[in-house]
Amino acid sequence: MSLPQIGWVGLGNMGNAIVHNLLKNGCQVNVYNRTKEKEKDAVQAGAKSQESLQQLVHNSSIIFTMVSNDEAVKEVFSGEQGLLSHAPSGKIFVDMSTVSPETSRYLAEICNNSRNQFLEAPVSGSVKPAQEGTLIILAGGPADAYERVKPILDIIGKRSLLLGDNGAGSAAKLAINYLLGLNLQGLAETVLFAKDNGIKAEDMLSIINEGALANGITKGKAPAILNDQYPAAFALKHLVKDLRLAGQQGIQTPLFPPLLQSFQQAMEDGLGEEDVMAIFKWLQDNKASHPAVGNIYPDDNVSDYAN
Ligand code: NAP
Repeated sequence: MSLPQIGWVGLGNMGNAIVHNLLKNGCQVNVYNRTKEKEKDAVQAGAKSQESLQQLVHNSSIIFTMVSNDEAVKEVFSGEQGLLSHAPSGKIFVDMSTVSPETSRYLAEICNNSRNQFLEAPVSGSVKPAQEGTLIILAGGPADAYERVKPILDIIGKRSLLLGDNGAGSAAKLAINYLLGLNLQGLAETVLFAKDNGIKAEDMLSIINEGALANGITKGKAPAILNDQYPAAFALKHLVKDLRLAGQQGIQTPLFPPLLQSFQQAMEDGLGEEDVMAIFKWLQDNKASHPAVGNIYPDDNVSDYAN
């Protein structure tokens, strides 16, 4: 089956990996990145660089965007030189950035007003699944647009779900990233607690990863902890953005406020450009600001709670 000409805006950590996978699978991909330098790798692999967003739209029938945040994606769509600036029609736009449901609905509205279709399709999974085409895609929007884009989504991910109207995919993405934050914070706190009691990080990670509590995060992030190196696959500043969006979306859970505070403080202390797992480094370096609680049941016998 011949696939349509794909346009791709945003060659950051994710966009670059996904475009390489599309090219590997025989797709024709037109690319545009604000910082031209970052197009080099994709162009070497066979993508066609486009001089402007308008040119990219002109030469493509399905246009994907994957940029940092709500402001960036709005600028890409509706800026003076944006995707919609030359009044295209009959195109399908697919935004894979993690943004608020409100922004997804806004983008759908401006695309529909100009007789184009819009689907949001944020993803669960990071750079490695993006390279391997094993992301989980959380789509929201009209079913006919989804069906037309699905052959491409099937290359990008191992599973895609159409979750409802525009906004539903973004809402699901904020929910899964809350669990991601809990996983990262839990992993970091657990390994640090064990270390404080004389257990090597390496041993504690083996206990976690060879048992029932292992998952893609505990396994995938273990080398970063052991090597104390955190090059960004998913920059910590993006998780702060996602947690803030979850807050705006009304999340009300006991663990949410301290989780957001922890990652936000790490970002303010300069770790925003590092990988999300750098939360381990921040918690380790800032132990003094998390005083031991001591016995939180002073009048009780601890054994009452043991199992
Ligand atoms: P990234 O590496 O930080 O790349 C960000 C991209 O956005 C770059 O191409 C950047 O262009 C572009 N951009 C930012 N502001 C822009 C603007 N105003 N106009 C045009 N382009 C702009 O981010 P990423 O990790 O690829 O993530 C992209 C999106 O996917 C984010 O919403 C993120 O939350 C989400 N996501 C990431 C992961 C992950 O593991 N990394 C996983 C799932 C979802 P320049 O090169 O010019 O700066």
